[in-house]
Formats: sequence, C-alpha cells, structure tokens
Amino acid sequence: MELKQNVIDAGGIYKKYSTRLEKLGIKKFEDFFYHIPSRYDDYSITSKIKDLQAGEVVTVQGKVLEIKNIFTRGYKKIQRAKIADETGELEVIWFNQQYLTRTLFPQDTVSLSGKIEQNLNKLTLVSPQYEVIEQGIETIHTGRLVPVYPETAGISSKWIRKQIKMLLDNYLPSSDFLPDEIIKKYNLLSFQEALKEVHFPTVLDHVSIAKDRLSFDELLTIQARSQLLKKEWNKSKRGKKLTLNKVKIDTLIKSLPFELTTAQKKAYEEILTDLSSEISMNRLLEGDVGSGKTVVGAIASYVVFLNKLQTAFIAPTEILATQHLNTLKKILEPFGVKVELVTSKTKLNTNDFDILIGTHAILADKINFKNLGLIIIDEQQRFGVEQRTLLRKKGDNPHVLTMTATPIPRTMALALYGDLDLTIIDQLPKNRKTVKTWVVAETKRNAAYSWIEKEIKTNKTQAFIICPFIEESESMTTVKAAKKEFEHLQQDVFKNLKLALLHGKQKNTERNMILKQFKDGEIDILVATPIVEVGIDIPNASIMVIEASERFGLSQLHQLRGRVGRGDKQSYCLLFTEGQSPKTMQRLKAMETINIGARLAEIDLQMRGAGNIYGTKQHGQSILKIANLSDFSLIEKTKLEAQKIVNEIEKYPKILDKINQMETIEVSPD
Ligand code: ADP
Ligand code: MG
Repeated sequence: MELKQNVIDAGGIYKKYSTRLEKLGIKKFEDFFYHIPSRYDDYSITSKIKDLQAGEVVTVQGKVLEIKNIFTRGYKKIQRAKIADETGELEVIWFNQQYLTRTLFPQDTVSLSGKIEQNLNKLTLVSPQYEVIEQGIETIHTGRLVPVYPETAGISSKWIRKQIKMLLDNYLPSSDFLPDEIIKKYNLLSFQEALKEVHFPTVLDHVSIAKDRLSFDELLTIQARSQLLKKEWNKSKRGKKLTLNKVKIDTLIKSLPFELTTAQKKAYEEILTDLSSEISMNRLLEGDVGSGKTVVGAIASYVVFLNKLQTAFIAPTEILATQHLNTLKKILEPFGVKVELVTSKTKLNTNDFDILIGTHAILADKINFKNLGLIIIDEQQRFGVEQRTLLRKKGDNPHVLTMTATPIPRTMALALYGDLDLTIIDQLPKNRKTVKTWVVAETKRNAAYSWIEKEIKTNKTQAFIICPFIEESESMTTVKAAKKEFEHLQQDVFKNLKLALLHGKQKNTERNMILKQFKDGEIDILVATPIVEVGIDIPNASIMVIEASERFGLSQLHQLRGRVGRGDKQSYCLLFTEGQSPKTMQRLKAMETINIGARLAEIDLQMRGAGNIYGTKQHGQSILKIANLSDFSLIEKTKLEAQKIVNEIEKYPKILDKINQMETIEVSPD
C-alpha cells in the first residue's frame, strides 16, 4: 500500500468498497487525507462513574462485566451491558446492534462516549460510541474530539476514521512540499501538522488553522498549474494571425434576423482581437442557455473562412450537432461557406468543407482537415483534455474557443481556469420570455395546487414537481420521499390528473418510457427527484414546482427552471420553502427578479460560499475539496505566490511534482 495507489488495487475490503469510496471522491489512498470531517463530536470530557450526571455527554472508561442481547415485546433487540470502574457500576444500552455481543466481551477494558440518561432512578449510558482500549494506543472513536465524516451507504464514519488514522500513523510524507519561506511568511502549519489537526484536532480551534494551510495548498497549486499552462501556451503556440475584413464581417452581422445583444458584440470583438493576434486564442465563452453563443461562434468561423481556413465545431450530442448544422447553414451558406456534418451515424462524404460540425466522431483518424484554423468546443465540461489535444493535433496550432453554459462566477473561473481567457455573455436576447418565478408561502400551497390543476386543464400544459435533495447523492431516502410525495399528490391532490414518478433508481428503459409518455402528453405532472436537471427537453411543459427550494443552490434552481420556458407558452416556476429565515428568503427572492445564471451563481457565492454551490452536496463532485472560493484574500495571496513560483519553477521541484499529479478539473453541473 502507498498513498498514490488506487484503493481498488489494494484488494480485499478496499476493492470491495472502491465504488462506494469513489462516491466520496476517494480513489487513491491519499484522497482519504482530503476527505474532511463535516463536524467533530466532542467526547473529550472523561468522567468517573460515581461523578456522572444525567444529561451530560461524556466518556467513561471501565471494564465490561456483562453484555447480552435482550428481546423486547416489540421484537426490538436491545444490547445491555454493565461496566465498572473503581468508583462504581454503570448500565449501558444500545438498540439493534446485535453484533456488539460478538465485539465486546466481559473483561474487556472499554472506552465509551455518549449521553447519560436518567432511566427511572438509574443512570444509563445510551447508544455510546465504543472501542476497546489497548495498551499504548490512543483512542480515536471516543475520549477526544472525534471527527465525523461525510458518509455514503455502506461506509461508516467510523470505518473512514480508522483508515485515516492508519494512514496518518504510517504514511504521512516526511517533508513539506512548501518552501520554508512561504510557511513562515503566511504563518502556516506544516503539512503534516495540518493533516493531523484537521482529522484529529487537539482543540477545536486548530481545525480552522489546519484548513487554512490545506486551502493555501489547494489554491496555490491550482493557480500555479493554470499559470504554467498559460505560459507554455503563449510560448509554443504561435497562432495564425488572421486579417479582419471589417466590411464583410459587418455585412454578415447585418444579415442576421436579430440584433446582437451588447454582450454578444463584446464577446465577438474580444474573439476577433484574439484571432488577429500573434498567439493562438484559448478562450472560454461562458453564457446562459439561450444567451446566443452559437452565433458568436458562427461569426468567428466566418472570419476564419475569410482567411481560407477551416473550422471544427464539436458538440456533445447528435441532437446538438444537427441543431448547429442547421443554424450555421442558415447564417453562413448565403456567404458561400460550406458547412458539413459528421456523427457516428452521418458519414462525411467530402473533404471540401469550410466548417465541419460533429460529435466525437470528428476525432476519428480518417477525418482530416486541409487547414484547420479554429476549433469550437460546445459544452466544454463534457469534453476531456485528451480529446481536446487530439483535436488540436489535426491542425497546426489552431485557435480554440470553448463554450459553456455552466454559470461559473468570474472570480471562480479566474482562479480555476487562469490559463483560459474569459468572456461572459451576461445578457439574454430582449425577446426572451422570462419564466415567471415566485417564492410561495406554505399557506398558499392549496391555492397553488388548484391553480396548477386549472392551468393544466385549460391550457393543456404540463408540470414538473421536483422533490428536494435529502442526501448527497440520490439515495433510497430521497427516492422514498419522492415516492411518498407522488402517492400523496396523486391520491389526495390531483385525483383527476395523470401523474408519474421519475427517479435515478429506475432502470434506464423505464425512465425513458416515462419521459416519452410525458413528452407525448400522456402524463400531466412528472414528480421527480432533482435528476431532471440533466438534459430533459419537454417544450410543452410550462410549470416547474420545486419543493424545499432552500436546499438547492441558486444556479441549480436556475438550471431546473430552465426545463420550462422552452416553448412559446408563458412559463412559471413556483418555489416552496421550509426555511423562513430572512437570509433564505432573500436568497430565494433573487430567483424572482434575476434570470441570468452567472449572476445567480455570484449571489450564491457571496451568500453561501463556494463549497455549497459546486460542493458534494449538489453534484456529487466538487471542484475544491477544502478551500472556499469566496475567500478572495486567500485567492489573491496564493495567486501572487503562484506567480513567483511559476517564474522560477525549476527551484520548486516538489511543487511541480504536485502540479503534475493533479487531476484535471472539469466543471460538471451534472
Ligand atoms: P446558447 O447560448 O444556449 O447556445 P443559442 O446560440 O442556441 O444559445 O441561441 C438560442 C436562440 O436564441 C437561438 O434560436 C438563436 O437564434 C437566438 N438568438 C441568439 N442571439 C439572439 C439575439 N441577439 N436576439 C434574438 N435571438 C437571438
Ligand atoms: Mg448552445
């Protein structure tokens, strides 16, 4: 075993647990170190049995006198033990943990942490954490500040704690990878100390100091890496310096059936500046769904065409590729641009094209470009780094434009993707009907239901009802809650409508069938877990109801809301909420007035901190494990240090090593 080893390769229990561990973001052993406790139980007060008082949370240590299973009338199983220290005896009970009689035995010396309760006139320790005390070995589950970890089904906090302790004891790197001068300058803990204190803090205050150090590392390496990438790009990638024929470009823009928004104009101007400069463009174009990124891409590829070069336009799905084909043909064919399509189903018949649109099929060996000048990648997050490299090799340092609808706030984008230049389209075309959004008070729930029923009947529309996130990933608890809600709605509320339930534990075929029925209008209301966020397109649906909306990030609510408002009907989004705190209300109210994803993401960032936007809570995958991207001052400090390091990277082999080992960060809203 070693830190860099994948847990799956270690065999045994690790292999067995590897899929579950991956859900927690743990692939290699060293990932355990970065699985940060969500809280700490304070069991640091130890008490003698005679001093115990009802209501206190304490640790008691003593000898087991007896332990047995007892079956109650309700067929429940209770484990009852008696322990003693030199001052007295104490009763201990657990519920439904029969294995305990095979784990703890009379004569064992144990350490138990939990709450003392008054049971008639006797004190009882109820459901305590336990461990057998062994000579010379410190306790980790009791008798101290005990870390509690994010869990997943089948992997307990206790098991994780044991692994981390074992790794800390045996595999902690012996030296720090940060140079002394930085550690001193920012008054940081050593790396080793930080890991120890974040998992097994001696006092609670140490946790934040430890996190400071680990956050510093994280932001420093991320930024150093993107700066290195940028430096390399600028050094080696001499681009094709294109000429801009202003008259022709203006003619194209005037021919469009709409006027470009100010944001679109700014975007294509930035892109044209890049295209006409010495260094290859490497730009990220970020804009909400429907903000009109495609036409900006079209203008760029027209400039490339005017310079007698080709464009490759890659889209994540067949449907999107075909959609782009139609759009680009309409805009560009009148100007003599030849647009072709290649997918796994559509063969490419000619190499005589100016723009080739395609899915991954574009990457195939047999697809050749005469003179590739520009690569446009739509929905960047679904496209890996290797694929990007493959595509670039089809030309001689082509320009690259990546487009995404993921609302990454600018501050975050700059820290995470410092190697890319960034353009944000923060404006929707004027004609867009916004989805009318209301935060609905609980008292108006019944009225809202009647209104929905009436809308569905009179306007022949359809609705989504989204049940809240209950656990980090879609677990049975979430599914059960959705099922219950579905049954309640069908039986008690919408008796005369047809409802269906959609969740992630259904088979693909079943899900597809339900979606098809919904699309065909055979189902009026789809009750779903938040999985509908991903790729569902039902133009006839115009009502989106979201339960316990306070549990979602604003960007995520925005994405959910984006499932409606796709047809020509006026669409509505109703947000129910359980939390009524002013802060919650203020946050949710933003949904009523703001319909730009990037702005909502920014508000989320300010109000909740980055961990909550892209954290494991919502997407099962987080970009940052420890650092908080709303900590602007730390971002600033680490950026400066990263610059210094990158300028003399040969002096910092350990940091370079760390950077090289980093996995690529891909933003994935799904
Ligand atoms: P996205 O940014 O999500 O890729 P699209 O490029 O698909 O958005 O544009 C969405 C729709 O908006 C398209 O039908 C497009 O023709 C239209 N559109 C783009 N720009 C404008 C504009 N300035 N005014 C009106 N409609 C526009
Ligand atoms: Mg698009």
